[in-house]
Amino acid sequence: MKSVATTLAQVLARETRAGELYETLPDGRLRCYACGHSCPLPEGAVGVCKVRFNAGGRLMVPWGYVGGVQCDPIEKKPFFHAHPGALAYSFGMLGCDLHCSYCQNWVTSQALRDPSAISPPLQANPEALVLDARRQRARVLVSTYNEPLITSEWAVAIFKEARRAGLTTAYVSNGNGTPQVIDYLRPWVDLYKVDLKSFDDRHYRQLGGRIQPILDTIQRLHSLDFWVEIVTLLISGFNDSRDELDRLTTFLASVSPDIPWHVTAFHADYKMTDPPDTTADMLIAAAEIGRANGLRYVYAGNLPGQVGDLEDTRCASCGETLIARYGYSIREYHITPDGRCPACASPVPGRWSAGFDGQIASRPFLPGTRRFTILGSR
Ligand code: SF4
Repeated sequence: MKSVATTLAQVLARETRAGELYETLPDGRLRCYACGHSCPLPEGAVGVCKVRFNAGGRLMVPWGYVGGVQCDPIEKKPFFHAHPGALAYSFGMLGCDLHCSYCQNWVTSQALRDPSAISPPLQANPEALVLDARRQRARVLVSTYNEPLITSEWAVAIFKEARRAGLTTAYVSNGNGTPQVIDYLRPWVDLYKVDLKSFDDRHYRQLGGRIQPILDTIQRLHSLDFWVEIVTLLISGFNDSRDELDRLTTFLASVSPDIPWHVTAFHADYKMTDPPDTTADMLIAAAEIGRANGLRYVYAGNLPGQVGDLEDTRCASCGETLIARYGYSIREYHITPDGRCPACASPVPGRWSAGFDGQIASRPFLPGTRRFTILGSR
C-alpha cells in the first residue's frame, strides 16, 4: 500500500512547470539555485526540498496550487516596521529545504517527509489569490508557512499580479538563499523576514543546512534594499548562550543597526518537546544583549504583556514611543506621514503607510469562503 506522503508527492509532481532558477552543468546534471543547497540533480532526481526535480533535462518546479491561505495581522509575520496594522494575506506551499525538529508549521513544511503531516493542496492561480486578498482588504501578500525560496518562480508569478493590484509583497523565509534567487526576487519582493535560528554552524547542520548561505543572504538582502527584519526563536540549551547571542547580534548590527531583531519565545512543538518554554526573563536578557551590541530596534515576542516596552517601537534618537503594541494589536500609532518621530523629526527606518487607518484584525483568520479546489479530489 502506498503511503500518504507518496500519494501527495505524486499529486504535486503533476502540478509543475519548467522553472527558471537553474543551469545545466557540463555533465548534464541541473544545478538548482532556488536555495542554498544548490542541488546538482541528475535525470530523475528530486531535490532536498522534495518539490523540485529533473525531468528530461528540465527543472520542474511547483505551480498552480497553495498549501493553504490565511489572513494574518502583519505583526504576526512579524514585520513591525512595515505598514503597521495591515492585513497580510498569507499563502503557504508544501515542503522545505530544512527539517527543524521544532517547526511550528510542520504540517505544511514537512508534508513530503512526514506521513503524519497531512495538508491537502488547493488549486489556485495568481488572479484568484489576488482577488481574494483584495476582497479581504489585505495590504500585503505574503509567501510564508513553509520555505518560500523553494517555490520562488510561482511566488513571483503571484507577486506580479499583486503588484498590478497595488499590494506590497513579502517573504517569510529561513534565509537559506543564493545570490541568484535573491537577484531574481528583487524586482518583486518588498519585505523579507529571515529566521536566523542560531549563530552556530553545527546547529544549522542539525537542521539540515549551513549558516554561511544564510548570513550571505542577509547581507545581500540589505545591500539590495529589501526591507529586512530578523527573528530568532530563543530555545533553552539550543541557541540561548550569551556567547552565541553576542555573536549573532554583533553580526546583525554590522550589517545595519537599523535592522529590527525579534527574539521570540519557544514553546514545545513537533519533535522538539524537551526544552522548557522560553520565559519573559530569558527574552529580556537576550534583548539586552542585542541592544548592547548596537541594535536600535529590538523586540520580544510571543509573550504579550510580559516583556515591558519590548513590544513597542521607540524613537532611537529621543526615546519617544512611536508604536505601542500588545501582542499583534496596535494600541497607539504616532509616526508622521513621512515616516518620522513626531517629537524630534528623526526618520524611522521602515516602510510606512501615510497614516494608520486602524487594524482590520489583530488575530489570524481564514478567508470566509473556500474558493480553491482541493487537488487530487477532481
Ligand atoms: S530548492 Fe534547494 S533543496 Fe530544492 S532542489 Fe533547489 S537547491 Fe535543492
